[in-house]
Amino acid sequence: MLQVLQDAEKAETFRISIETPALIAAEARVWEAAAAPAPAIPEEDMLAPILKEFELSPTAMQNYLKCRLSFYYRNILRIPQSRSEYASFGSAVHDALNAFFTGFSREQRLPDPGYLLEHFKKGMLRYRDGFTEAGFERRLKQGEDLLPDYLEARKESFGLETRTLLEYQVRTRLGDAPITGKMDKVVIDGHSARVCDYKTGDPSKGKDKLKPLKIADGEWHTWGEYWLQLAFYQILTRHSGETAWQADTFEIDFVQPDARGNYPAARLNFTHADIEAVETKIREVYAAIQRREFAPGCGKNDCEWCKFARQYRFDTAPAEVETEEELNNP
Ligand code: SF4
Repeated sequence: MLQVLQDAEKAETFRISIETPALIAAEARVWEAAAAPAPAIPEEDMLAPILKEFELSPTAMQNYLKCRLSFYYRNILRIPQSRSEYASFGSAVHDALNAFFTGFSREQRLPDPGYLLEHFKKGMLRYRDGFTEAGFERRLKQGEDLLPDYLEARKESFGLETRTLLEYQVRTRLGDAPITGKMDKVVIDGHSARVCDYKTGDPSKGKDKLKPLKIADGEWHTWGEYWLQLAFYQILTRHSGETAWQADTFEIDFVQPDARGNYPAARLNFTHADIEAVETKIREVYAAIQRREFAPGCGKNDCEWCKFARQYRFDTAPAEVETEEELNNP
């Protein structure tokens, strides 16, 4: 028996009777709609070559750990996705910084802020499709305001970065698992190196993403997304076969000011146990992917992939599209 108070002022009460079996059936339908569906798996001769070529990157691993179902559509089938405004802005900033350091290495002197802004504007136009008209103007102004400030805050340390590798891609293996990752910048100093990743999000929101791994009852409990990304980079550089230098510092560089107007940079250290835990998880995740473990979904329903899974039918091979790494690593 369910009571519904329809009008508080009149304080009238309506009584609605629902037969128990009907209630149970309705509840079952709600649960059915909420539960993550099984992924649509294509013919083996279509899936096997994709899995054979698959390489695990930090973004792919993070996606798998968050939700296997959405990982399957994004990283295995590579269903085309539109680039968000946030990612488009981040890509424009990354491109501008890349051009800035390329200019520095060519001219052997730091380019001026105008050079950085010129390349930022070019980047914004390159990724124009990711913005609404108002969003484009807002983000353009944001970049024009913050980039000269950021450069001013970093110019002394940037001036010392005379040997850099930009968009440094590593492809290697960890046991059976092929692993890959593209680092925004590697600053080499003698035999040591600092790996740096730019982030264009709010630094205060980035704090949680820097938190180290917590293991509870032998399971991964919580970990920060940036922490995992940098730990993964450490593993990549160790297994890269590079002998001229060794990466010993791993840094997240925020290209946005915090509440005090500073541009923070966070350097993370990893213990032997951290690296061992991440290496073990890399092997486990890769093996699970090869076993085609793409379910269940996380059930959090914070994306559209469950809806997509209920509708998607195979009739063509997945298209060649930009990778998840390229789309979502601003
Ligand atoms: S809606 Fe939730 S359960 Fe479904 S794919 Fe997305 S994150 Fe995973």
